Amino acid sequence: MRIDKYLANMNVGSRKEVHKLIKAGMVSVNDAIIKTPKMQVQEDDNVMVGDQKISYQKYHYFLMNKPKGVLSATEDFHQKTVIDLLDKKDQYQNLAPVGRLDKDTTGLLIITNDGQFTHELLAPNKHVDKVYWAKIAGVADENTVNKFAEGLELGDGTQLKPAKLEILKQDIDRDSSEIEITISEGKYHQIKRMFASLGMQVVELKRLSMGSLKLDDSLQRGQYRELTDEELAGLK
Ligand code: URA
Repeated sequence: MRIDKYLANMNVGSRKEVHKLIKAGMVSVNDAIIKTPKMQVQEDDNVMVGDQKISYQKYHYFLMNKPKGVLSATEDFHQKTVIDLLDKKDQYQNLAPVGRLDKDTTGLLIITNDGQFTHELLAPNKHVDKVYWAKIAGVADENTVNKFAEGLELGDGTQLKPAKLEILKQDIDRDSSEIEITISEGKYHQIKRMFASLGMQVVELKRLSMGSLKLDDSLQRGQYRELTDEELAGLK
C-alpha cells in the first residue's frame, strides 16, 4: 500500500498532514528517507517518523454500545448498519460485527476485521457466556427461573441448553419484570423466543457482556472504542 495510506491508517495524521511530514524529510522506510507519498510499502517494512517506529496494525477490534434502530450487518441499501456508525469504516476494510444483535437490541457489540477471531469466538463448542438485561411483559418467578435452568424447548421444537435467569424486579400490578439472563448459545432471536415459549414478551433487551468482556458504561449508545490488549487477550 502507499506510504501515505499506511501512515494515515496508523493514525499518524490525515493524508494532508502525512504529506507534509514526508515533504519535510521526516519519514524513512528501511533506513532511507523517502520523498514521495506514492511510495509502496509492505506491512513488515521498517517505517519511521522521526525517531518513532510506526508498526502496522492489521487487525482492529472495537467495542460498541449498539443503539436501537441500526442493523448488525456490514451494509444495507435501505437501513443504517453498525458499520455506518464507524468514522474509519472506509479506512479499515472488511469490518464486520461479531454475531448479531436484533435491530431493537442495544449494548455490547464487537466489531473487527479479523475474520478468524470472529469465527473462533462464535464457534458453538466455545460456549462463550453472554449476559443480557431485559424488561419483560409478564411476571417472571421462581417457576420461570427453574424452566430456564432445565433447558427450554422453543416453539419450533429446538431444545436449548440450560440458561441462568436472575429476577431483578417484579411488578405484579403492571404485569412486568426486569431480569438478567446468561446464555451460552446464540440462536436467532433466542431470548425473545425463550420468553415467548412461556407466554411472555421481551420489551427491551441490552447485552451487558460477552465472555470476559463487559460493556463500557462510559460509552453512550452509538459510541465505540478499540479493545484494550487485556480485553482482547481475555477473549482469545
Ligand atoms: N436474543 C434476542 O432475542 N435478540 C438479540 O438481539 C439477542 C439475543
